[in-house]
Amino acid sequence: MEMKQVSDNCFAVLNEKNRVCDANSGLINRAGGVVIDTQSDLAHARQMIEMFSKVWPAMPQRVINTHEDADHVWGNQLFEGAEIIAHRSVPERMKQVAEPKESQKLLHGVGRFLTRLVLKVLHPGIVAAGQQLREDYNFDGIELVLPTTLFDARYELNLDGTEVHLIYVGPCHQVGDTIIHVPKERVVFAGDVLFRQCTPMGWTGSYEKWFQCLDLMIQLDPEVIVPGHGPLCGIEGAIEMKAYLQYVRDESRKCFDNGLPSLAAAKRIEFGPYGEWRAPARLYMNVERAYREFRNEPPNAPWDMAGTFDAIYRVAKAKGIEVEY
Ligand SMILES: [Zn+2]
Repeated sequence: MEMKQVSDNCFAVLNEKNRVCDANSGLINRAGGVVIDTQSDLAHARQMIEMFSKVWPAMPQRVINTHEDADHVWGNQLFEGAEIIAHRSVPERMKQVAEPKESQKLLHGVGRFLTRLVLKVLHPGIVAAGQQLREDYNFDGIELVLPTTLFDARYELNLDGTEVHLIYVGPCHQVGDTIIHVPKERVVFAGDVLFRQCTPMGWTGSYEKWFQCLDLMIQLDPEVIVPGHGPLCGIEGAIEMKAYLQYVRDESRKCFDNGLPSLAAAKRIEFGPYGEWRAPARLYMNVERAYREFRNEPPNAPWDMAGTFDAIYRVAKAKGIEVEY
């Protein structure tokens, strides 16, 4: 984990491994400070706080959650008494997708030899994901702390003369997707609308909406984008992600029209230049999302988590690459 200053008053804490759960956090260091996203577990959240505290005068009284996923909200409890700002959908969605009990059980389960053995036969992908997570994370002690200030389309903060614009752009990767624009400093905190040098994992939303949001980010003309996952970039990051999503949707369409199921399609579709990104087999999720759209399924159709992690496992095996999430 490292901290980088990205403009006069904006900072980022980046998780360099860039695998699942390795989310970034941001800080706008004005008017008492605003922290953006709070990491995946308490140890990472504490490390983020320690890094940012080298530049902030005191613990910030404001937090923004860019969306409802666990890896962006599980450190909320360490900001006691803070105003937590997020899109109106986020508290309810957090209860649905970021309840820590299941993840705590999973990590303990794969840590036990016998459970792991049984689980491996049923769900090799879940075991592989759990083992990977255990290398870096411990979900014990996490309690859900929900946002307290909710907004609909847009929310603005004025931090001693520095405007901060929260723009709701969901659902493109998740229901609550919000980007944070600091126009004066030409910085955008993108949350998981942007994955950089790692394969995007989209849960709820549509390709069209995601394209619109990436276009908006490009139009804002930032000098620096802090992605939800991966290293800092400029607008080239958004351009590349859009190209990836377009490529995957086009290739998926061909496979769909040929009657291939989504898992077979994900095995067949070439990674191309995106094979160098982290966890390229997460491609399966993007193929499956495209298929849902082709079948006119609702964008919020739920995911079978075990089936999804198993499918990613099978794509990696079929392609002869390391299983990585
Ligand atoms: Zn994330």
